[in-house]
Amino acid sequence: MIHDEAVLKANEIGSRVLSPAAAQNDKAGRFSTEAVKSLGESGLLGLMLPAQIGGSGLGPRTFAAVISVLAEADASVAMVYLMHVLGTATILAARPGASQGVAPTLKEITAGRHLSTLAFSEAGSRSHFWTPVSRARKNGSGVRISAKKSWVTSAGHAQSYIVSSLAPDGSGPTDSTLYLVLEGTPGLSVAGSWDGLGLRANASAPIALDDCEVPSNFQLTEDCAGFQVMLNVVLPLFNLGTGSVALGLCRAAVASTAVHLKTARFEHLGQSLGESLPTLRAQLAAMQIDTDGLSARIDDLVDHLERPRETTMLRVLETKAAAGDIAINVTSTAMRVCGGAAFSKHLSIERLFRDAHAGAVMAPTGDVLREFIGRALLGMPLF
Ligand SMILES: Cc1cc2nc3c(=O)[nH]c(=O)nc-3n(C[C@H](O)[C@H](O)[C@H](O)COP(=O)(O)OP(=O)(O)OC[C@H]3O[C@@H](n4cnc5c(N)ncnc54)[C@H](O)[C@@H]3O)c2cc1C
Repeated sequence: MIHDEAVLKANEIGSRVLSPAAAQNDKAGRFSTEAVKSLGESGLLGLMLPAQIGGSGLGPRTFAAVISVLAEADASVAMVYLMHVLGTATILAARPGASQGVAPTLKEITAGRHLSTLAFSEAGSRSHFWTPVSRARKNGSGVRISAKKSWVTSAGHAQSYIVSSLAPDGSGPTDSTLYLVLEGTPGLSVAGSWDGLGLRANASAPIALDDCEVPSNFQLTEDCAGFQVMLNVVLPLFNLGTGSVALGLCRAAVASTAVHLKTARFEHLGQSLGESLPTLRAQLAAMQIDTDGLSARIDDLVDHLERPRETTMLRVLETKAAAGDIAINVTSTAMRVCGGAAFSKHLSIERLFRDAHAGAVMAPTGDVLREFIGRALLGMPLF
């Protein structure tokens, strides 16, 4: 599969599977198993896996484009896909001692039959996912893990969870290790329901691990090396992906607002809203300017990830922080421009507005990113 083909497939799934069901799934808080099935059948679940093991071998440019296209149709599904690609990247980066253990999982992913996700955030350390409070206990050559994971996208629907936990002998707060925990592992359970303000159809419920046994060939990182993988493998793609979800939401908001301004009419004036009110046209223009600005920012981050340089980590941090604010601003403007029709849920805009608020609270949150950027600019340590 090449870049254009992947984006075409995402477009096709977006219009055939996601768009028609997005409103209903949002209302019911229903996870779209049809969407995951379509993504699997299209080959998109193995997008970034190497061709030698059956993947498409595509990079961050295609990942970002596919995510933004999916998010334009349904941001809940785009976030499910984003978490899957991150889980997949972490499995692919497994230490040599785990390569045989994870091989069947990678094969299932390239066959489109396996959805993965990240289970990092814990109730105890909240948004500071880099400092889990759970600690794995040695169990022969493997470990046993008990942990309360507070939000896990695709909870109960994924076939695997990338679980962080402090290493048995770790001495510092970031001395974590990452493990692969398969669905059906005794002790693994969904520990609550998901009834969020936005992204309601992505099953981001809590997960409990109760003395789960994890064999050594499912230990993805060396002891205490989880933090480095979070930083080097997960963070860049996560920030690019959430930025791309934000971009999809902004594009959808611009498109829906334009349709409303063209179709809603002042009958007494014989004009559409857009024809009648310059202030609405100006606000639509501001939304478009912000959306294209975000698009340029994402292109810039893709370029930095393709050709890493000194400023790359700064761009990684900046992009998610900016994207969260832009998505909230653009969708808030859309709510104002479309007035009562948006407020009374006659348009998809209120869903976009609610979904847009998730990006900023997903860790690293916008506040934390700004704190990191400020520290980096002043030459202070980030952690
Ligand atoms: C839809 C959704 C899906 C999610 N999916 C997953 C998932 O798949 N896997 C996963 O591991 N997690 C997931 N999460 C969890 C997410 O990444 C965060 O951990 C969670 O949203 C943090 O919420 P909190 O209220 O506990 O944060 P808190 O830590 O209580 O933060 C409260 C406030 O304090 C601010 N704050 C915290 N620390 C600092 C600081 N150092 N400096 C400045 N301000 C700070 C925050 O920005 C926030 O405004 C998901 C969350 C959501 C909403």
